[in-house]
Amino acid sequence: MSDARGLLRVTRRGVLTTGLAAGAGLVVPAFAGRAAAGELEPPTPPGSATRAGSAARTGADGVPGPAAGAGGRAEAVRAPYIARCFEWGARKPKFPPKIWDRRPIRILVHHTAGPNTGDFSVGQAHRMARGIQNFHMDRNGWLDSGQHFTISRGGHIMEGRLWSLGELNGGRRVVEGAHSPGQNVIAIGIENEGTYTGVDPTPALWNSLRATCAYICHRYGIAPSELYGHRDYRNTLCPGDRLYGMLPRLRTEVAGLLNRRLSRSEAVKASWPLLREGDTGPLVQAAQYLLRDAGTLRGNADGRFDERTVTAVTEFQTAHRADDANGLLGGESWPELARTVQAGREGDAARAVEVLARYRKTESVPDVVDHPAWQRLLGTAGSPVPAAEDPPGVLDR
Ligand SMILES: [Zn+2]
Repeated sequence: MSDARGLLRVTRRGVLTTGLAAGAGLVVPAFAGRAAAGELEPPTPPGSATRAGSAARTGADGVPGPAAGAGGRAEAVRAPYIARCFEWGARKPKFPPKIWDRRPIRILVHHTAGPNTGDFSVGQAHRMARGIQNFHMDRNGWLDSGQHFTISRGGHIMEGRLWSLGELNGGRRVVEGAHSPGQNVIAIGIENEGTYTGVDPTPALWNSLRATCAYICHRYGIAPSELYGHRDYRNTLCPGDRLYGMLPRLRTEVAGLLNRRLSRSEAVKASWPLLREGDTGPLVQAAQYLLRDAGTLRGNADGRFDERTVTAVTEFQTAHRADDANGLLGGESWPELARTVQAGREGDAARAVEVLARYRKTESVPDVVDHPAWQRLLGTAGSPVPAAEDPPGVLDR
């Protein structure tokens, strides 16, 4: 996650305000009086008799017991132990989380950008979860933890935002999160303790992440190819270069737990590259041509992401009312920067295509270079990252 945000912001989705906004498919729960956070029960949707029971049920092995969900292969996927909010000492949310009567379609992987602690105890895990909740509620002004689930470096898995686990077990509805604007209902957010820019996650964390993703895919009927990193959708370093680079392996291993096999193009996604100050090379040069095309970079496209380029990216992001106008060129700004271009035309956008085609040694560039074509030219092959965003009415807090 790692991106602190205020209470009221103007973004491309408009002004984010406090209070409960009504939206399609939205269930607005009533808060259950004086009960502690973990004792609050979300409302049972009309016609559903199984959800509340499945949320509270614990199997003989002490794991939350799956009920009838979207996947229909409960025997094949073991539910990992996920500690509920009351177990790690969560505060009561400021107001009830919103529950949407729809299934999420993807999972977003985050890192907390905190220290890579060597304390793998359950006590450390719970302290970390409480620290995130305090930060999200007190500093970001959100109603509760932003993420749906949290995993410690010791591999302890915890519910993040209240009711996320019960709804996951039910397999039909989703709690609205606040882990990435535009992805807070259609994507389940998982925070992984640590900073993975230069090191890999611990084996314990990795195993728990894999098991959690498999269980979420199973309950909600999400394909194992649909696991993404925060940076696929926003201008952020999250979840770190190393953990981000492990996503193809994560998709493959999660598929294995689901008794499925992924082709290489399903496991590897042609995402938008995250470019930042200090980067050099043809991707930067292409970005510079596109920034010149957009009118925010003056001077040469020299392939060096210098201060001048940071300023040009930030200017572009501000003009497009980005959630993160920070000079990092990631998944939020690329789709706006990489406009559809007719190949063979004159101009800076066409020059960007030429630079990448040369770099990729691509024999033929399609006549119309649209987002999937740009992603192929910029990325690592594989299938394009789908752009779908949340429905209207999401608070992002
Ligand atoms: Zn993140």
